[in-house]
Amino acid sequence: MPVPLGLAFTYSVPVELEDRVRRGARVLCSFGPRRMVAGVVLEISQRASKIPPQKLKPIEAVIDHLPVIEEELLDFLLHLSRYYIAPVGEVVRLALPAVERGAVEVLGRARLEHAELHSIGRLLQFAVLTGAKPEAPLSGQAQALFQELERSGPRSLSELEKQWKSARAVVRRLEQAGLVTLERRELERDRFFSEAVPLEMPPELTEPQRLAVDRITECLESRRPAQFLLDGVTASGKTEVYLRAVQHCLKLEMGAIVLVPEIALTPQLVARFRARLGDAIAVLHSGLAEAERHSRWKALRSGAVRIAVGARSALFAPVRSLGLVCVDEEHDGSFKQEEGVRYHARDMALLRAFRAGAVCVLGSATPSLASEALVRSGKLERLRLPARARRASVLPEVEIVNLCRVGASPAHDSLLSMPLYRELERVLQAKEQAILFLNRRGFAPSVLCGGCGYLWRCPNCSIALTLHGSELLRCHYCDHAQRRASRCARCGSDRILEEGAGTERLEKLIARVFPSARVARLDRDAAPGAKSELVLRRMRDGEIDILVGTQMVTKGHDLPSVTLVAIVNADAALSLPDFQANERSFHLLVQVAGRAGRADRPGKVLIQTRIPDHPAIQMAARHDVVSFVERELGERRSLRYPPFSRIALVRVESEDEARARAEAGRLAGLAKQVRAPGVEILGPAMAPLARLRNRWRFRFMVRATDRSQLRRTLLAVARAGADRRVRLAIDVDPVNML
Ligand code: ADP
Ligand code: ZN
Ligand code: ZN
Repeated sequence: MPVPLGLAFTYSVPVELEDRVRRGARVLCSFGPRRMVAGVVLEISQRASKIPPQKLKPIEAVIDHLPVIEEELLDFLLHLSRYYIAPVGEVVRLALPAVERGAVEVLGRARLEHAELHSIGRLLQFAVLTGAKPEAPLSGQAQALFQELERSGPRSLSELEKQWKSARAVVRRLEQAGLVTLERRELERDRFFSEAVPLEMPPELTEPQRLAVDRITECLESRRPAQFLLDGVTASGKTEVYLRAVQHCLKLEMGAIVLVPEIALTPQLVARFRARLGDAIAVLHSGLAEAERHSRWKALRSGAVRIAVGARSALFAPVRSLGLVCVDEEHDGSFKQEEGVRYHARDMALLRAFRAGAVCVLGSATPSLASEALVRSGKLERLRLPARARRASVLPEVEIVNLCRVGASPAHDSLLSMPLYRELERVLQAKEQAILFLNRRGFAPSVLCGGCGYLWRCPNCSIALTLHGSELLRCHYCDHAQRRASRCARCGSDRILEEGAGTERLEKLIARVFPSARVARLDRDAAPGAKSELVLRRMRDGEIDILVGTQMVTKGHDLPSVTLVAIVNADAALSLPDFQANERSFHLLVQVAGRAGRADRPGKVLIQTRIPDHPAIQMAARHDVVSFVERELGERRSLRYPPFSRIALVRVESEDEARARAEAGRLAGLAKQVRAPGVEILGPAMAPLARLRNRWRFRFMVRATDRSQLRRTLLAVARAGADRRVRLAIDVDPVNML
């Protein structure tokens, strides 16, 4: 089964294994020419199958006495696999702990004796130095590995293997030379748990918090599924509501999963959970070593730990008696997995919770339109937290700076307007802090007017046109193309601008204009992974005056001395060729603005734009979520975009442009031939990121009124399969349209 197949296979169950072969259990079987391949039992049937019994191969061994995947989780995975038209083998892998996966593969090759099978995955071998010194000089790799162990202490073999492919063989040689022994070791402690956190007294709930908590606990008590949208402005105390709900869940001896965006998974947030719930939580994040991940998995599977907190993949945690699933910042794009099984953890949280009879709470200050639509159709119940939890803290004042009008600052650069320059001066003088937000991504530029902000859009799809070469504007949904104009169609200006300036340039600019300020940058290039925490800590400790950053500055960080937040270019996100551009820009503006004045000092927000009248900007400036949702839902309805239709993208990629184009064309043709009622095929067209990692990218959109017809069409595409020389990906409910 760890082979990524779309199909399930049938085996016979030998009498002596009958009471141990159970759904969700791992077994060993022959598969084609390979012996001892591990699989997961999906279904057990008493009936004789259509295949004659003498042709069925038997299951050879059962790996674990407790099935690795509980029924509840297995059923959910099977449903997920159908929903996303994803190979069932790949989907089941999402829930298998990584260490065991590795161990099973080794086993398959090594053909271990039956008796040893029970130790699979629990055998975590560490290489430990014996203290002896090498007698003769070591060979290159052995020397490197030896030095690594000297430097970092004992390391697990599976980790070493990531660094050196042949680590196992090298370790064995070192062992023979008496330099290294292999030991089963206790796992290292997680960095989130390295310091003790004193337990904390919960604050008295505000009235809206109390109402929300009461409603949730009522449903937990009744043990029936229920779905909520916790709709509360930034810092209104949503996290407090999750904490209470989780506590109540524990009281009822049920388990809980709390999902947060990857970037929000900081020691700060984890410390808050620990301060309230103690150490009985498993924190799952992408930085975990396999051994650590495995120990979390075991603790959850055995029921010793009942709470899982993590980014999207924590949805597959083997939490027992699942009673509650919370998704914080449910509008966040990072809940969508963009490779392999392209699932959306928010949508699937609703599904898993519902199937398990659990309560699901989606929380956000800027609920997704998808969730808003679910509220309207009665599938989600709204719980409102209308004000910030701490009295003194009020929403910041927002000023829109029209870049077409205001004068240039002493910087002589369009990124830094006069009003922003003045505000930065004020912040530096008052010894407060500022965040400058710039949304920069590597995409082909859009084109807009420097005089009035007019943005060239597709006449068919109303999304931003993208510049190709220097002359051609193209639509990446329908393939409409037109020449680039030399004058603005609205105001006649000949100042035609291309979008796209990065954080790096901004950081340099600020450092030049304010030489005495301490400036730092926070984005994926400047501060990957754990380094971002360091930058944020320096910010909290007051070692930074001005922080320049991308999305990473927008997520749940509590930075009390920040009194100025500037959105340097609000238009960049609005001009993306994506029907969700307005929604995402709006969320971003509101979230970024929410970073200002969180504690007791008032905050100010500046939005620099060339399109000050754009509804997303106007409504974000007024924190007017309700009007935005009304308006945007209206637009979506009239243009037939989700949530008023179901869409999927079929992506085809190849190093050979002509081949990718031809395959996309062929598959789109096939999809059309299905003639499913209510289904339209848009495209094929070249993707906005036309070439990525040396591959040409084409795609078409399948849009349907009804999910079952969408599925029918996509199944036809999936079954037809693509030419082996191209990569085919089906993305149901896509988030990334580039
Ligand atoms: P959100 O998750 O909605 O952004 P948080 O839960 O982080 O909000 O709360 C924001 C701040 O308000 C935190 O510092 C938190 O400790 C505080 N807070 C939350 N609820 C209360 C309450 N009932 N009384 C006092 N302070 C609270
Ligand atoms: Zn113009
Ligand atoms: Zn178009």
